[in-house]
Amino acid sequence: MSKDILSHFKQKSDNSGKITKPSSDSSMRPSSNVATKVAQNITSKPLLDSNVTKVVQKVAPAISTSKVSFPQRWQIVGSHLIKNVPKDTQFIRTLHTDRDSEVEDGNKNLVKVAAFDLDGTLISTKSGSTFSRSPNDWKFWHRNDKQESESVVVRKLNELVAKKYLIVIFTNQGAVVANPTMKSYTNFTKKLNDIVNKIKEGIESKDTEILVFAAPKKPAKNASKSSSDEQFAYVRKPGRGMWDELTTYLRDKAGYEVDIENSIFVGDAAGRDGDFSDSDLMFAKNVKCEFNTPEEFFQLE
Ligand SMILES: [Mg+2]
Repeated sequence: MSKDILSHFKQKSDNSGKITKPSSDSSMRPSSNVATKVAQNITSKPLLDSNVTKVVQKVAPAISTSKVSFPQRWQIVGSHLIKNVPKDTQFIRTLHTDRDSEVEDGNKNLVKVAAFDLDGTLISTKSGSTFSRSPNDWKFWHRNDKQESESVVVRKLNELVAKKYLIVIFTNQGAVVANPTMKSYTNFTKKLNDIVNKIKEGIESKDTEILVFAAPKKPAKNASKSSSDEQFAYVRKPGRGMWDELTTYLRDKAGYEVDIENSIFVGDAAGRDGDFSDSDLMFAKNVKCEFNTPEEFFQLE
């Protein structure tokens, strides 16, 4: 049988005018081609159909064989955006489960978002400086800034996850360059890895994912950059670009929309006396969701 295949192959090659060498490699080729074809037919048929995929995911929720951990999935878009979002959106369906029975208008593909600024909102510095002096120079935010209390912020985030909110961080990082070779970038991602890790330790639901969008520094005029001035302005709060990135991610990757009426953004730049800016307040206004200061949101005892 193998002799027949070999002679058939040699014959075919000879007819096409090519010089053939009857090595063991070439004699194996016809059968391996058949095997590849069969494999392609098996894998490329029903699994790529999105409807079928949805059914499969509903039947078997919360099982993921290809989970990529938070520190491994940092991405840079052009030079104007740094983001960290899961490729596998299975977790959104887990978040959504209880909403199915709550929503009565038939629109079931909604996700409630609890979004937060980072500096001065979820964390402050240990050193007391305005900006972190090192990747370890952070602690969870507390109103009085006296105790290093994880309980208030993390407890509240745990409650939100239990209520099926998606936790998202939107942060302007005007000192971070979106370039993996730069120290500002590695320090920032290391700090976020540690923060998210700490938050997850305090959240009971172990499938929880926290999404991060960061607007980095615009490179100096002459430096090479791959994004336009408009893109930089758009993603930097109060521009709504980072929120739109989230919306696009949920829609395109998972087929979900943000439940904007039940979503909230919390930030410390609220234009109050002593606030350096009102960019967080204006960001919430631009995306038309509810806004709280950290003091209002993390109702402190
Ligand atoms: Mg802030």
